[in-house]
Amino acid sequence: MINLVVGAGFSGATIARKIAEEQNEKVVVIDAKNHIAGNAYDYRDKNGIMIHKYGSHIFHTNLENVWQFISCFTSFNTYMHKVIAVIDGIETTIPFNLRTLYDVFPETMARRMEEKLLAKFEYNKKVPILEFQKQDDADLKFLAEYVYEKIFLHYTTKQWGVKPEEVDGAVTARVPVYISCDERYFQDKYQGIPLEGYTKTVENMLNHPNIEVRLNIKFADYKEPYERLFYTGPIDEFFDYQFGELPYRSVNFKLEELNMPYYQCNSVVNYPCNYDFTRIHEYKYYLDDISDKTVIAKEYSSEFERGKNERYYPIPNDKNAELYAKYKAKADELKNVYFLGRLGDYKYYDMDKAIARALELFENIKGEK
Ligand code: FAD
Ligand code: UDP
Repeated sequence: MINLVVGAGFSGATIARKIAEEQNEKVVVIDAKNHIAGNAYDYRDKNGIMIHKYGSHIFHTNLENVWQFISCFTSFNTYMHKVIAVIDGIETTIPFNLRTLYDVFPETMARRMEEKLLAKFEYNKKVPILEFQKQDDADLKFLAEYVYEKIFLHYTTKQWGVKPEEVDGAVTARVPVYISCDERYFQDKYQGIPLEGYTKTVENMLNHPNIEVRLNIKFADYKEPYERLFYTGPIDEFFDYQFGELPYRSVNFKLEELNMPYYQCNSVVNYPCNYDFTRIHEYKYYLDDISDKTVIAKEYSSEFERGKNERYYPIPNDKNAELYAKYKAKADELKNVYFLGRLGDYKYYDMDKAIARALELFENIKGEK
């Protein structure tokens, strides 16, 4: 059987590899872009700094099968991600945790709040901000309002165009209030950066005699025969937007090369209270690249507009889920056509979840002929 995979990101590369290797079938992988790896694409610039073209990508997972799979194609360093936020000029770590208290409040006040938090919540509990706001105690009420205002309100408005209570709770729950001294952004068992980068990792995934990769070609322009299709592009585009467009948020990265060894104290610094950008990435931290120069990227969010910018984030909410369900029902009517990935499933997948979804799909279809 000839398989066509649309999209050479992690979703497309995973399904392509499984079919090529385990079913010994031919797979053509196409991508509209001039590179593989989708949004995880990275490259070394002239200074030898590994740039994540579409924003910082940190691999993290608790999924054993995903870790086993990706580890066949790359080794990882032991980088553990932290995010610094600048709040009223003070640098502290987020998610907001017990240590953050001591950075932003006077010590006696911080201690009082810590005691109250530990009396109320189990140690290590992660509390989404929208839940954390429901406090009776005056100190904790003040704290909840502080965290909401200083960390979530303006950042979320910049990122999503609406207030935190107007985006799906799962979105802000990705960065909960953390009743812990653990200052890392992710607590997953496995995390790190691929030693030779994401592009090389995906290249290794696609490096199989049964796989042919063709770049700079859109699905609409691909006219060669195939018998089975795996589509990781936007599902609404596939069906010609017949029920209307699925909305997305887009982002724009303004890259600057600076004549200094380091610009900031950390790979990612969030600006939840100031400026129009949400965060600044400094890429040389991920693989400890040595250079006299550094490259930073300021991240600006905006609405996705077809033809003007690119789709980055599906927007999870009830209305969009309803619209997606209409496309999904159409998709289910098709034989030998499968949708997957952030755009195909219209889901806010991290890389590990995109891989997991592709692995699961393969298990479901591998018996089919
Ligand atoms: P994509 O990477 O988007 O790949 C889809 C591919 O399909 C693209 O290359 C596109 O060009 C191609 N395509 C689409 N339509 C067509 C068409 N009609 N014809 C031909 N080709 C087409 N995840 C993490 O785990 N950790 C992180 O730190 C992290 N940071 C992120 C930061 C940002 C700013 C963003 C936007 C995402 C981040 N992610 C992160 C998520 C990660 O990027 C996704 O999980 C992953 O890229 C999903 O892979 P995918 O293959 O589903 O989609
Ligand atoms: N968020 C916030 N302030 C921050 C960090 C995150 O309000 O300093 C909210 C915001 O709504 C964001 C969401 O939490 O979109 C998820 O953050 P995450 O860092 O996981 O976003 P991603 O890296 O996927 O862009």
